[in-house]
Amino acid sequence: MKGSSADVAPPWITELQRSLRPQLGGGADMRLIILGPPGAGKGTQASRIAEHFGIPAISTGDIFRANIKNETELGRQVKQILASGGYVSDEITNAIVEDRIAQADCEPGFLLDGYPRTLAQVGALDGMLAVREAQIDRVLELTVDDDAVVGRLLKRAEVEGRADDTEDVIRERMAIYHRETRPLSDTYRRRGALVAVDGLGSVDEVTARILAALT
Ligand code: ADP
Repeated sequence: MKGSSADVAPPWITELQRSLRPQLGGGADMRLIILGPPGAGKGTQASRIAEHFGIPAISTGDIFRANIKNETELGRQVKQILASGGYVSDEITNAIVEDRIAQADCEPGFLLDGYPRTLAQVGALDGMLAVREAQIDRVLELTVDDDAVVGRLLKRAEVEGRADDTEDVIRERMAIYHRETRPLSDTYRRRGALVAVDGLGSVDEVTARILAALT
């Protein structure tokens, strides 16, 4: 899973991006995390926020689903795990994120959606950032209540037909979220990085709230 040399930006690309950044209107680097329970609307908001800041949105869930669809070796390994609502191992997930954030488009920053999801992943991410002398600027937590979220996910199941959107699996994902991922809010709150945003309302309303909270 370690990246091939092609996954790492050659120095000239990094240099070119750095010199172009003022002309592109980019300011300081922006590294964000979006946290929230399944069905909170993280993916939708992640693309909008990432576009606003001109940084890539990186969804570990999307990466896994693309690998399942393309029947890669990784896809084969994680297919059952996703279908059951469980978490992919930290080892696999960390390696994927490490490869992804080493790519050239992540030089000005990135928005992580669905990662980190465990305290061990927080530690791994800290390590990846430390070697780059970088840090996470803000952690957005989208708050929504469990019942609203289950309703949304059941609706999504009809539209997208995701294998992990059946009611039992949804309940399982919520339980795992509360046990494994919810504690991350406290970790980032203690670090002074957490920004909690109410995730109920229209997509536009929530985007406006997030942008107001970030600027
Ligand atoms: P949602 O937030 O709606 O549950 P995601 O697309 O973020 O959906 O993730 C779907 C599934 O992918 C998760 O239930 C889990 O199996 C796997 N997954 C995604 N990100 C991670 C991660 N950081 N660690 C472990 N498993 C992950």
